[in-house]
Amino acid sequence: MKNKLLLSALSILLFQCTGEKEQFQADLVFRNGNMYTVDDDRPKAEAVAIDKGRIVFVGSNVEVEKWISERTIIIDLEGKTMTPGLIEGHGHFLSMGRAKLEVDLNGTESYEELVSRVKTAVEATTPGTWIVGRGWHQSKWDSITAPVFNGFPTHQQLSEISPDNPVFLSHASGHGAFVNAKAMEIAGVNQLAKEGMAIQTVDGGEVIRDENGNPTGIFNENAMGLIMEHIPKSDEQKDIRALKLAVVECLKNGITSFQDAGIIGSEIASVRKFMKKGNLKVRLWAMLWSQDSTLIKEWYAKGPEIGTGDNHLTIRAIKIMADGALGSRGAWLLESYTDRENHFGVATVPMSFVYDISKEALKYGFQVCTHAIGDRANREILDMYEKALVENPEAAKDSRFRIEHAQHLSLEDIPRFASLGVIPAMQAIHLSSDRPWAIDRLGAQRIEEGAYVWQKLLQSGVKVVNGTDVPVEPINPMANFYASVTRKTLEGTPEGGYEPSQKFTRPQALKSMTLDAAYGAFEENIKGSITVGKLADFTVYSQDLMLVAEEKILDTKVEMTVVAGEVLYERE
Ligand SMILES: [Zn+2]
Repeated sequence: MKNKLLLSALSILLFQCTGEKEQFQADLVFRNGNMYTVDDDRPKAEAVAIDKGRIVFVGSNVEVEKWISERTIIIDLEGKTMTPGLIEGHGHFLSMGRAKLEVDLNGTESYEELVSRVKTAVEATTPGTWIVGRGWHQSKWDSITAPVFNGFPTHQQLSEISPDNPVFLSHASGHGAFVNAKAMEIAGVNQLAKEGMAIQTVDGGEVIRDENGNPTGIFNENAMGLIMEHIPKSDEQKDIRALKLAVVECLKNGITSFQDAGIIGSEIASVRKFMKKGNLKVRLWAMLWSQDSTLIKEWYAKGPEIGTGDNHLTIRAIKIMADGALGSRGAWLLESYTDRENHFGVATVPMSFVYDISKEALKYGFQVCTHAIGDRANREILDMYEKALVENPEAAKDSRFRIEHAQHLSLEDIPRFASLGVIPAMQAIHLSSDRPWAIDRLGAQRIEEGAYVWQKLLQSGVKVVNGTDVPVEPINPMANFYASVTRKTLEGTPEGGYEPSQKFTRPQALKSMTLDAAYGAFEENIKGSITVGKLADFTVYSQDLMLVAEEKILDTKVEMTVVAGEVLYERE
């Protein structure tokens, strides 16, 4: 004991003699900031010093002085608000970029408007080329031109304006598609009602048909595959274009890390090429698509990849899709949909598959992240996780399995997240967009008890990861923050918010977009708070999002985005 003390005293002395000048040197200093650190040991700070991409000091303007030398670049924040770099907790990185290359149907207010946007794209393309678009949502339209089937439009008008170009338009949820006659002709699904022909069915999916049995152009869940397999695959060149656009979009929105909810082998190859050239400026944490069994086997054999490219790429999770979404009534429910009798939604994979993946993932050191929206899907996934976790108690100590969305839960399943150590990865912005019509699907009781129950989950002792599911929703973190703390639509309704007891507080919301999101990826030791030793990733804002009046939150602009101590975005 005595020796130990002596030794440490000696080393301090040595350090002071030889290292003082060397020790306190930073290549970058931010000062005069209003910093929310998301570090309980020091929740607020004025200044931060960075060296070689890591935080070396957090504290006051006075204390930071000693870190400044002739090589230090000093950025005066002039009182602006800074937080740890924001983490997108569930999005689709390449799809976000690709969406910029496709027909954007977000914000269409009627079927006519959708048709006219597609018409413009058709006129600009050569006959035969696929027209791919995404982002439409029939619940956001004021009207649908007849004929209408199951609440969805039918393809006739779309087929009229595009007789020679196959059209494939993804629903905003990504869980359904609207296609024209040409696309159905190519896929061989257009004439199913002809006498003597069997009506094709798809496991875990639905081809919506009219009263004569003809497909209306709407393909839900797995049925989308009938059409999709005929769309030419994305090539590397297109991937790289999409990656570039995705990086720009993240930086503009203050996102320094991105949790990608599903990547395939060819995309990983594109990402690596892109990263090698130094272009992957945002840190990517990606889940492998479980449907690709070859890919999964390959990764089981080599194990997780953690933090390559100076912590720019991590692959240590597997994504499973267990059900659909509420919009398309694909979410798997315990009780029937309120607005469609005897309809319970669908499981999109057998539960034995979820169990098998869970078991193997634990063995090889991967997290499992399963998409589950309805209460039935959530329960079944918890059951499968539990079975695998109980069988492997050693790995179960810290498995951090996740349920993506966890949107609608049965009351009795809420405490199971905490007891099993399962992380709900939720998207507050979905409440803003969907809650106005979700009540039609679930009815008042189910909505009040178990839909978007952020506070109930937090109170049960779990950390909630927050995200936007971009491109399902825009990546805008301020909209997501606003939704988290107000539970209102982006138009500011209703007064007081939906089920207000379930709001995040502002500190909880910020944590769900930083430290708790990092925890959901096993990255809380390097990200998520402004703490000495962590990566120097920050977001700077035009106003104090933690104090500004609620109705002003949406006016907050991202002023600056910093990754690894490099200012990669600055607002004009
Ligand atoms: Zn998603």
